[in-house]
Amino acid sequence: MPAMAHIGVGLAAKRIAPKINVGWLILASEFIEVIFMILWAMGIETIPTDATGSYSPYSHSLVMGVFWSVLAGGFVLWISKSQRTALIIGGLVFSHTFLDIIASPKIAFYAADTGMPLFFDRAQTIGLGLWRFETVAYIGEYGFVLLGLLIYLNERRKLKPSVPVP
Ligand SMILES: [Zn+2]
Repeated sequence: MPAMAHIGVGLAAKRIAPKINVGWLILASEFIEVIFMILWAMGIETIPTDATGSYSPYSHSLVMGVFWSVLAGGFVLWISKSQRTALIIGGLVFSHTFLDIIASPKIAFYAADTGMPLFFDRAQTIGLGLWRFETVAYIGEYGFVLLGLLIYLNERRKLKPSVPVP
């Protein structure tokens, strides 16, 4: 359930990046989750639970969020030679961190969650804690996806060449 809202951000990005395939936009908004899954498979980070909270500093801390965003943006600049595309992808990667700061600590999902780590010190966290409340958390997750989907569909409609009326 958590981390769905990011998909909505990727979908909505179609509005500012109509030429980029939506799959890439969603991948960028979930890039930090992909990093997390790789690190989890390697045994470096752990799945968040009620008892542990969501402490995954290599993928999800603020400092590493900046790092992954710059890395992804730099890579895209290198292959696409487009500053605009690089900024959009880098920005989408950072939107994951930004959204998690607004949501964390996600107590509605993980009872012991303490918030987004700034870096590797578990005691130093940030977060507005909007996902402290279950209702807000669910409305937030589904709301973002729905809103993103509506924006995406609207953009697709605009992109389609208009069919001449016979
Ligand atoms: Zn995440």
